[in-house]
Amino acid sequence: MDKLQAKVTMYPVGELGDCFFLEFTSGEKKTRVLIDSGSFRNGEQSVRRMRAIAEDIKTHCSDQGEISPIDLVIGTHQHNDHYSNFVHSKDIFESIGIKNAWLSWLDDPGDKHAADIAAGERKLSKKLSMIGTNLQNMIGVNKQVESRIDDILGFYGLDRAAGKAPITPLEALRNLKEISKAVYYANPGEILEIPGFSQQELKAYILGPPRDNELLFDINPGKGESYDKHLSEAMNTADGFLSALSNFNNTVTEEEAFFPFNATQERPLNDLEFSNGSYHEKSQAWRQIDYDWLDQAERLALYLDSFTNNSSLVVAFELVQAQKVLLFVGDAQTGNWLSWKEIDWKDKNTSLSQLLNKTVLYKVGHHCSHNATLPEYLEQMTHPELVAMIPVDISDANIAKQGGWRMPAVNLYKRLKELTGNRILRMDGQYGPDSPLQGELAEQNWGLQHALVSLRAHTELKDEIISYTVS
Ligand SMILES: [Zn+2]
Repeated sequence: MDKLQAKVTMYPVGELGDCFFLEFTSGEKKTRVLIDSGSFRNGEQSVRRMRAIAEDIKTHCSDQGEISPIDLVIGTHQHNDHYSNFVHSKDIFESIGIKNAWLSWLDDPGDKHAADIAAGERKLSKKLSMIGTNLQNMIGVNKQVESRIDDILGFYGLDRAAGKAPITPLEALRNLKEISKAVYYANPGEILEIPGFSQQELKAYILGPPRDNELLFDINPGKGESYDKHLSEAMNTADGFLSALSNFNNTVTEEEAFFPFNATQERPLNDLEFSNGSYHEKSQAWRQIDYDWLDQAERLALYLDSFTNNSSLVVAFELVQAQKVLLFVGDAQTGNWLSWKEIDWKDKNTSLSQLLNKTVLYKVGHHCSHNATLPEYLEQMTHPELVAMIPVDISDANIAKQGGWRMPAVNLYKRLKELTGNRILRMDGQYGPDSPLQGELAEQNWGLQHALVSLRAHTELKDEIISYTVS
């Protein structure tokens, strides 16, 4: 049997986004798999870059001058930064063709459980869009809160400011289904065949998203489940706001009648005659809490965002003979990861810890944010060849701005460096001076030297397009 080889290409989308192209080859056989294709924004520059990426994929789908359709497209979750290219480059993907698409059970229109969840999500995103509009119309509101909500709505392709019809991931999903000859909705516990290969050569294990509501909605890491406790605490408050919103009916409760300051003592905020010398006095600014509650709206937006991330389709590819695994987790968050150990595998010989032990390539979840890699499982990725691929671009405005998103999360990145022996491949090429891909290595540092040699041997860095080969 010829040796099976997997070449993984991480396309530089130039902002927040994922686009991974896998080529499995063995002798004459070749199977092409695309996992996600999208970037956060829909502006002219983003569209141009994403189209160039689609054109490059097309050049890799040519066999002796003939175009071979992509064998399989895997769509992990309905966020713009993973799906937008199926809108921007619809014509290019049509000209290539797609044989199969794998989506998660959550995308299955025939699944009642999935349909209920999708309806709830749509409701919440609409509500958020309304909150954004209301904020815009309120005078004196903290603009930062408003813009942050818009940032998050960007994942759904909603751009209120542009006043344009949104390019939503839903449209991308429609296009992907339309172009694909066959669509399969995958469930956790399934072990699937990759077109063109037998299960003796190559297997795909479906790990997430969980069918269990409890875990599907569990996006908030508990103790020991995150590398950044501050952020996870912030996430927990989102739940409180959600509950407050659903209980808010703008009426005075019976208990309020007994509060120390009753209605006769109230003063409207715009009674400047009353408040100019006191509450609105410059030196008293620290007392002003009028808009602090709006921060909660941002948390709510984060909640919605995290929920969609948690719905990611998670796939582990196993090169059976070599006993090596490539793990693609989309943007799966805590609950999704936690559910993997509950999976009732169709093949009883499957074990999660073995899959993790065999992992030689980990596509880091959610652009290396703090709560999309479960420490307990990362610690089990002990293979000496482990390499991490991170689709992060720190020039992205959401990351670069003051108080921006913490990607890559400091503690997680540090641990990844340790576990991989600094064998990290980044979409933005921003390697530290200690990376084996940059600078001169201390001669005595044989461990790193070896990592450099083997990494270079497996890596093609061409015009920022990074390919890594596992065999
Ligand atoms: Zn993402």
